Amino acid sequence: MNDDDNDNDNDDDNVKVRGRRPADMRVINLIVVHCSDSLFGDAALVRKWHLERGFSEIGYHHVILNGYPDAESLRLHRPKFWLDGAVEPGRPLEQAGAHVQGHNHNSVGICLIGKEQFTQQQFGALVELIGRIRREHPGARLAGHYELLGAGDPPKSCPNLDMEWVRGQLGAWRGQINVTDNVKGRT
Ligand SMILES: [Zn+2]
Repeated sequence: MNDDDNDNDNDDDNVKVRGRRPADMRVINLIVVHCSDSLFGDAALVRKWHLERGFSEIGYHHVILNGYPDAESLRLHRPKFWLDGAVEPGRPLEQAGAHVQGHNHNSVGICLIGKEQFTQQQFGALVELIGRIRREHPGARLAGHYELLGAGDPPKSCPNLDMEWVRGQLGAWRGQINVTDNVKGRT
């Protein structure tokens, strides 16, 4: 929620959604991982936060939930565990996001709900989502927000994951996390 990237990258403002035909898809060669810097949230709440900050829409394209979609569920200690690892749509992929200054036009923005700790279900969903995006956009590079800061940008640790480690572990995760199993429950 403290992701202070404005919605005014001048190279992005004129990108409009013109339908879902592949011809309208922009060139995507970068996948950027963020965290919400909040212990709870879902796409609707992040959208609300972003609209309050003057964005035209939610800045991210995908939001991966941690089971606490709102403040109430956290306060009452009532996790909606069936939402843990759920991927919710944000801004349409055809449209440039507003999540990383200078790189919005060619990237997909993924937000993990959480501050510094994320669940296995979230990681499983992240791996599956990255695979899905790369099938559509082969060779898309994976980066964390903090790796894409410009010279004048304030320091930022978003998404609070060592992305070099994450990239190194991706293959291992793919083997170890059976996302279908997570959905159906383990036997
Ligand atoms: Zn970020």
